[in-house]
Amino acid sequence: MTTPQTDVDATDAPASDTATAVPTSVPADATVHECPYCDRPFTREDRVALHVGLQHYDVCTSEEEEAFETAYLAENAEIRRYRLKAAVALIVLYFGLLMVYAVAA
Ligand SMILES: [Zn+2]
Repeated sequence: MTTPQTDVDATDAPASDTATAVPTSVPADATVHECPYCDRPFTREDRVALHVGLQHYDVCTSEEEEAFETAYLAENAEIRRYRLKAAVALIVLYFGLLMVYAVAA
């Protein structure tokens, strides 16, 4: 499954569908995972599951629904970890700059 630089043109998507209006491309050296319904390329299998669940939920199989729910919950956990790391980084930066100001000023 290696189709290099497969682009999906934004004009192929329905005008009201903003989630598919964003063109995607996969680097030439990466493995391409394509949507079974619209052939949109993705670099990761879980991204295909999320795309199928969000864009083709009315026609997807029960296995694809289950894969979507699993990928959705995993993505939520990943987003929570990212937010926590970002908050910790901002707090460390704030107090670090505060200490630099207290010492240097
Ligand atoms: Zn699709």
